[in-house]
Amino acid sequence: MAKKKKKSMARVYLAMAVTFGLLIAIVILLITGISSCVSSCAGNNGSENPEASDNIDSNTSDKGNPPISENELKQSEEPVSTGGPSDEEADWALYVIGNNDPLPDDFTVKTKVVAGERELDERCADYAIKMLEDAKADGIDLFVTSSYRSIQKQAENLESYKNTLIAQGMSPEEAEIQAKKEIALPGCSEHNAGLAMDIVSSDYWSYHDDLDESFEELPHFDWLIANSWKYGFILSYPEGKEDITGFIYEPWHYRFVGLKHAKKIHEVYEETGEFLTVNEYIEEYIEG
Ligand SMILES: [Zn+2]
Repeated sequence: MAKKKKKSMARVYLAMAVTFGLLIAIVILLITGISSCVSSCAGNNGSENPEASDNIDSNTSDKGNPPISENELKQSEEPVSTGGPSDEEADWALYVIGNNDPLPDDFTVKTKVVAGERELDERCADYAIKMLEDAKADGIDLFVTSSYRSIQKQAENLESYKNTLIAQGMSPEEAEIQAKKEIALPGCSEHNAGLAMDIVSSDYWSYHDDLDESFEELPHFDWLIANSWKYGFILSYPEGKEDITGFIYEPWHYRFVGLKHAKKIHEVYEETGEFLTVNEYIEEYIEG
């Protein structure tokens, strides 16, 4: 009997041991199952996102589309602030400059460096500096190839270009007319006012001899159209507006008009696809 009892107790112990073993095995299986899921999910998060963003970067640079940064999305609907003049104060920059609208004879401007040796009116320089910085952060390396230009330098540029055209075979009369379409008269350029920049890509001059319309094919142009208004700048000489501005289409030329006005001009562009010139904007929205 005692032997029998011992035997049945042994069976009980064996059964308990097997059950306990099974329980341990189940627990181990559960733990490893959960941890492997966790580690594989974390692995995906850790590896896919950087790959995705790498892909976005390489795709966009291949296709020539500007990458859209979180920064841009955050600011997409509002002008930036540089701690500079308020919107109201920035009305100073809204006026027409052209061959029929020269600067006053006593015009002077205080300039500030915006990039390298390039300068703008000190009242809008900080907006330009911020725009160049933000573009760079978005992977768009802009190069300011021209900015403030003295009236004396403007006269030299006009004369030099006229001579270039004559050397290319134009008559002096033809050269004079053509040069004035492309280069403003002294005192009649937005560059003389210290408000305008000619902007290209940082490597533009390594494969171009001159500013030309092909700039609009670069992602730099797309970025400027999408963003320059946030910094108070607009495209001064749009395509199809040559008769109004008196100048050829210049996708590289951006001019400060102030945050409020640039925003409104951009809104019209978003709604209609039309770039208002400064003349049109003043006539339709300020005087009208
Ligand atoms: Zn220009």
